[in-house]
Amino acid sequence: MEDIHISSQIKLLTEENLRLDGRKLDELRPIKLEVGVLSRADGSAYIEQGKSKILAAVYGPRELHPRHLAQPDEALLQCVYRMATFSVEERKSPAPSRRETELSKVITEALAPAVFLKYFPRASIDVYIQVIQADGGTRCSSITAASIALADAGIPLRDLVAACAAGKIDEKIALDLSDVEDKNGQSDLPVAIMPRKNLTTLLQMDGVMTKEEFSEAYELAVKGCQKIYEMQREVLIQKYINIQDEVSEEEENEQSNGD
Ligand code: UDP
Repeated sequence: MEDIHISSQIKLLTEENLRLDGRKLDELRPIKLEVGVLSRADGSAYIEQGKSKILAAVYGPRELHPRHLAQPDEALLQCVYRMATFSVEERKSPAPSRRETELSKVITEALAPAVFLKYFPRASIDVYIQVIQADGGTRCSSITAASIALADAGIPLRDLVAACAAGKIDEKIALDLSDVEDKNGQSDLPVAIMPRKNLTTLLQMDGVMTKEEFSEAYELAVKGCQKIYEMQREVLIQKYINIQDEVSEEEENEQSNGD
């Protein structure tokens, strides 16, 4: 059975409140973001968050098949979340699981408020997310990557969506749980936000927390999202700086060839 939280047999915190991977309670795992990693997609991104590694590819806006799904007044955003068979410790069956179907829906709903869907009536915007290696928090990392892949595809957005979970381990609230913390901790609270408007687009909870713990975890997760948002902006800005540099270089070469 999935998603059952049992009391930890493993000690997840040291006396100094350091975690198994050496992080402090309010520390994110190391994050690496890249955009434009797939040449055949309209937009793409890659994220590494701790040991989790995920690719997101965006196609569209494009014609929607089957046509009867088309919406007369807006585009249909369709996200597909899949885990590679080799992405987890115990081989995952290649058949889509209920969890993957649920996460596809949850991720679509977390991203949709950020997209100007009304600009593309009857069209489809397809987002394919492939988890290559999973080590906890993959729904949040997928949202973070898919959001910058949408921007990379040039799809008009109200804002980026940044996502991060907080949870409870050994009775303490901690940011960005890894797989071992998720499985042996008491609860997990994935959050996604559109930071500019301060809108929450994903809020789920697994396990048990008191009201006070919930508030503390939510605030910590939002802080994590804000840090991730800065990284998303940075990687997108860098992409355009690189393009600008390439264009100037080409112009200089053309000029010197013409001289
Ligand atoms: N996981 C696994 N096998 C599966 C599904 C998940 O080992 O079939 C692991 C994986 O590392 C994942 C973690 O369990 O990241 C937590 O899964 P959860 O359903 O809580 O989603 P996530 O935290 O990845 O968003």
